[in-house]
Amino acid sequence: MTNFVHCRGCGIQIHETALSCPQCGAQQNLAPVSQRVAHVGETAKARDLTDYSQVPFFRKRWFIVCCLLIVTPIAGLLAATGDLYYSQKGEVKIFPKSAKVTFILLSVAWVAFNLLRS
Ligand SMILES: [Zn+2]
Repeated sequence: MTNFVHCRGCGIQIHETALSCPQCGAQQNLAPVSQRVAHVGETAKARDLTDYSQVPFFRKRWFIVCCLLIVTPIAGLLAATGDLYYSQKGEVKIFPKSAKVTFILLSVAWVAFNLLRS
């Protein structure tokens, strides 16, 4: 899915995620990109991540799931400090905010449970 828009400055066709025009350098409207960031399962192309191998291992889904099972607070910490990614049909996707909030709440609950138990 490649979409093009017209440059606000000179009118040539540029990629819709371009921050500025490669021809005239005019700043482009950032709203469409930031709106997409909030969408569930957004592709990470807007962040120049097209290959899952570019994602640091500690931001990949399998690592987060392992953390949830073994060391829950680390999963919450990772969710709180940055984006988490997964791969679907060859595309790099970003975890929705709701999933990140769930990880954070789970880790807080896990810590509280262990504090109460001790
Ligand atoms: Zn231009």
